[in-house]
Amino acid sequence: MHPLELPFSRTRHDRAAHRRADPDLIGTSLAVPTTRVLVLHRGRLAVVDPQAPHAALMPPAGLPDGLWLHLGEDDDATYLGLVLPDASAPGGSGEPAPPAGTDGWAGLREITRAQAAALDADDDRTVLVHGLAVEAVALAGWHTTHPLCAVCGTPTQVGQAGWERRCPVDDRRTYPRTDPAVIMAVVDDADRLLLGHAARWPEGRYSTLAGFVEAGESLEDTVRREVAEESGVVVGTGPGDVVYRGSQAWPFPASLMLGFRARAVGTAVTTDDEEVTDARWFTRDELHAAAASGEVGLPGRHSIARSLIEEWFGGELPGAW
Ligand SMILES: [Zn+2]
Repeated sequence: MHPLELPFSRTRHDRAAHRRADPDLIGTSLAVPTTRVLVLHRGRLAVVDPQAPHAALMPPAGLPDGLWLHLGEDDDATYLGLVLPDASAPGGSGEPAPPAGTDGWAGLREITRAQAAALDADDDRTVLVHGLAVEAVALAGWHTTHPLCAVCGTPTQVGQAGWERRCPVDDRRTYPRTDPAVIMAVVDDADRLLLGHAARWPEGRYSTLAGFVEAGESLEDTVRREVAEESGVVVGTGPGDVVYRGSQAWPFPASLMLGFRARAVGTAVTTDDEEVTDARWFTRDELHAAAASGEVGLPGRHSIARSLIEEWFGGELPGAW
């Protein structure tokens, strides 16, 4: 099997983590005119072209102040993130004005969708900016949810150029968190694919089953447990019954999606009727026909779910959410 094509895993820059210990790193980077900055607010990025939004890489001159993050570098530039605080105008939405030279704010999924449709999706520059944007959104999200020391409740201070928060009272240090989740294409011995419908989705939407890794649990056990809980289907315990296929960051807000192919040894379906209200086996012909007619809506093309489904199918399928 070839590696999966995963849009959120494409990247071209060097994170240059060895530089983060330099306490002047942000200041010296800002003094260099070739430095470029991604500006963020509440998980959204300052963009140009609101119709087909692209994250804007801004020169540092004239930007407001906020939380600075070191994202990395390449041969051309150092890259920073700038998280703007809420605007303080009374009665306002809290959304600050986008920086001069940009057109507004857009979320990562919106940007990814626009890029997937663009002719320059494989262009080096597009891959660079998108890789930086995924990193910036994930890191900024962590800061938003971890303002206080988890032990004593004191407001923490940012260190390591945005990659650490430190408690000034007990010196406890915390680092950006990522929550692992598994997502799996479950296939039976007749080569059918299992897809589920979640209670919170619109009618007709189907995708691969998925769930978070629990404390103290191996990935293989998570795959078996989630499939059993959501569909009643039994995944084998033999060698090759759970095979890793690839991963991509999913910073909504802090997931890492780990993709698997899993082999079903018991195919009877019983859903829990709470989280998942339907699970069905599809042959290739059935899934193609259902997707083409619109009876079944498949996940978006930037998702790892889509990649796992199309890997099993052996090509592109019609339709997407
Ligand atoms: Zn503390």
